[in-house]
Amino acid sequence: MNILPGEIIRKKRFGGELNEKEIREFVQGVVTGEFADYQTAALLMAICINGMTDRETLALTLAMTKSGDTLNMDDVPGVKIDKHSTGGVGDTTSMVLVPLVAACGVKVAKMSGRGLGFTGGTLDKLESVPGLRVSIPIDEFKRIVRDVGCAVVGQSAELAPADKVLYALRDVTETVDCLPLIVSSILSKKLAAGCDVVVLDVKTGSGALMHTLNESLELAKRMVQVGKMAGKPVAALVTGMDQPLGTHVGNALEVKEAIDILSGRAGGDLLEVSLALGGHMLVLAGKAETTEDGARQMREAIASGAGLDKLRQMIAAQGGNPAVCDDVSLLPRAAVIRQAVCGRAGWVQKMDTTALGLASQAMGAGRKTKEDQLDYSVGYILQVRIGDQVEADTPLCELHARTEEDAERAEEAVRAAVFFGEEPCERAKDFLALVTADGVKRR
Ligand code: URA
Ligand code: CA
Repeated sequence: MNILPGEIIRKKRFGGELNEKEIREFVQGVVTGEFADYQTAALLMAICINGMTDRETLALTLAMTKSGDTLNMDDVPGVKIDKHSTGGVGDTTSMVLVPLVAACGVKVAKMSGRGLGFTGGTLDKLESVPGLRVSIPIDEFKRIVRDVGCAVVGQSAELAPADKVLYALRDVTETVDCLPLIVSSILSKKLAAGCDVVVLDVKTGSGALMHTLNESLELAKRMVQVGKMAGKPVAALVTGMDQPLGTHVGNALEVKEAIDILSGRAGGDLLEVSLALGGHMLVLAGKAETTEDGARQMREAIASGAGLDKLRQMIAAQGGNPAVCDDVSLLPRAAVIRQAVCGRAGWVQKMDTTALGLASQAMGAGRKTKEDQLDYSVGYILQVRIGDQVEADTPLCELHARTEEDAERAEEAVRAAVFFGEEPCERAKDFLALVTADGVKRR
């Protein structure tokens, strides 16, 4: 290294703007180990406190992108789209919209992550399908995208390795919810993965990294701006996370929920958010004139069964048992299934969605340490939404647990995270804003 770590840390500590060379040296140092973990942690904290300009964020994003391999998808014909969420609870949109968008004729090459903290990950959900593989060699990934139209795989260790180190340090130094660090973390992985267009789902509310609409809009704007500066078309939707998305929380339960939606048996906010995101993906890929037109095409793919058929094909191509699409009883099933009721009359006023995510994690649906083995069968079906009027005997949730004690604990946790009141209350919004290079459209 030509610049000492201390010099870089000091500059940011006193609010200076790091230049491209300093940022490049930092990221290289992170990968080679010349920047020690404690120095990296100090710089991350200085970035959190003093921020980064868009120019710095771009330099950080590009340096992280170049910290490992980059994937070239040019030999797969057509526009390739990736979608990424900033993380939420019960967020099953990928499982719904990946096959639906593919059924509408747009290739979806999705690199997904595992659950993190209280948020769930698409890879873990998919792996609850018996046999399904998410560690797939790149050539096979491309072949499946080419032949089937969609595939969802885990990000390989060679893609943006700097993010692995930075993320692990951020996770334990209270530096996760920092805009330039989130922007560079997500965009570097998307740039390295070689897609043509990226659609981001920026979550806002009590179960998201960003709790207020203003913070979430700011994050969305910076993602779009830095994406544009990096030459990658990015659109971001800001969607609600004041309560879990859909009704099901837990890995196999969320696969079942996605299959129910693709079969036309279920609707609600999960379908609405999926249509909003997918509609926009179809617009960006040139397959739809407007988001509404895109959503209409996706509804047709549900009605005709084409979406569910795409999921069947994708599961089969990734080694899983496609029969789960027709018989959800083939998915892992919990030993204890128990019903809980609200226990009081009133209106559902709000939810502590982070606590609801932690409740499913504690049941075994998420990891507390990197080494934890998941139990795919556990979780719960939440039977109330914000704005609902309930009676004492109205169902609150159906718990799917390993043991009676686990079910009991989870019931208490869910009860503590759902707040009832005497006054009627408005329903929460699913879709709040669309942010593109042209600006912000509020809903
Ligand atoms: N998801 C990521 O991949 N990175 C972040 O920083 C936040 C959410
Ligand atoms: Ca869900």
